[in-house]
Amino acid sequence: MTNPIVPLKLNRNKKGTWFMKKLTGLLVIVILHSIAFAQAAAPKTTYILAGHLFDATTDKVRENVVITIEGDRIKSVAATQPPPGATVIDLSHYTVLPGLIDCHTHLGSRADRYNEINRFKDTPFDEAFYAVVNARKTLEAGFTTVRDVGSLPFLAVDLRNTINEGYIPGPRIVASGPGISITGGHGDLNNFSPQTRVQMFPDERNFQIADDANQLRHVVRAQVKYGVDVIKILATGGVLSKGDSPGAPQFTFEELKAAADTAHMAGRKIAAHAHGTEGIKNAILAGIDSIEHASMIDDEGIRLAKEHGTYLVMDIYNDEYILNEAPKVGLPQENIEKEKMVGRLQRENFQKAVKAGVKMAFGTDAGVYPHGDNAKQFAYMVKFGMTPPQAIRAATSSAADLIGRASDVGTIEPGKYADIIAVSQDPLADVKVLEHVDFVMKGGTIYKDPRQKQ
Ligand SMILES: [Zn+2]
Repeated sequence: MTNPIVPLKLNRNKKGTWFMKKLTGLLVIVILHSIAFAQAAAPKTTYILAGHLFDATTDKVRENVVITIEGDRIKSVAATQPPPGATVIDLSHYTVLPGLIDCHTHLGSRADRYNEINRFKDTPFDEAFYAVVNARKTLEAGFTTVRDVGSLPFLAVDLRNTINEGYIPGPRIVASGPGISITGGHGDLNNFSPQTRVQMFPDERNFQIADDANQLRHVVRAQVKYGVDVIKILATGGVLSKGDSPGAPQFTFEELKAAADTAHMAGRKIAAHAHGTEGIKNAILAGIDSIEHASMIDDEGIRLAKEHGTYLVMDIYNDEYILNEAPKVGLPQENIEKEKMVGRLQRENFQKAVKAGVKMAFGTDAGVYPHGDNAKQFAYMVKFGMTPPQAIRAATSSAADLIGRASDVGTIEPGKYADIIAVSQDPLADVKVLEHVDFVMKGGTIYKDPRQKQ
């Protein structure tokens, strides 16, 4: 073995000595287990030659750096040379970056059809099949981590587990359950006859509908019970729902606070869908961790977000798709009108929030537009006020901070997962190059590689 790891050496030296016999039975078992594990899975060492490295710890690029990967983690990032005979991935003509993170996706959703009849035709299995395909597309686009903020109960949890098991390819998933809604709200099935129902879990109102603080506490706890990482609550009306207004609050401050406190008590973060001005402010004051959309945020809302350290996750690309493509595939007129009200305003307010220095994390509402196009949002973020490094850090280090995974992902540093992408041109000169990622590695495993040399 060329690179013995330290614990293995220690264990071997101690094995069979008198000292070993003095140890408690439990410790012996632990050590034997660790020997067996280390021998069965000696981690493979790989070296990436990075011509240009944007590691997302600063806004700067470093030249000619070697990233050493041991197993699924980064061991070192330094200006060294790999030893002779080592496994080398030559990206010396590329810009290497951390795997990208999208904090707002719906992997179970499709954007190629908007006719509402599908809400009654699809089974939960259908959505799970879509999610498997969409997860792969997302990973191959360079997004090695996503937060899924709204799907059938508990599709995102199962998808996360199946990907983690290595059974199917996909990004790391921070999973929510269904977005929690009031009766008649953004997450409900509205404006059909009262005898129309689509319910998987009637006793639990699909783990989705809550109308007061106690019901919210129950739904949050029930979602935690079934394995969600994060809670999603619908604090105002929405664009792609029927019969509700994006600007109108859909929970009171007290209700939002009950949900936020319950989530935090369970060690979970909570994200609030909020377009309307009042709902945004209520959500920030209630202690919610991120405001999704934030379309009608006003100056006071921006000030509050800054004061509370609340992240804004503003999906400023998808307006393009909703207005130009979705109508061709059945999007009802009501939703088109709502998007016209909200889209332009959201971009203006994004610009104000960037200027004010509010924390921003990259999130696109993938599923509203086709999965895999996530990186199209970078150009809009730059057009509306961010520098390219700012936009990239929103999708790497800042996103990792928001989702609570900063010790594992978001930068290229020793100890982090080897979640690494590369592009053939300079993304700091033109962020659009991130729309065509050439190389994708997640946890040391390569998923896309035009030029690997062994
Ligand atoms: Zn969404």
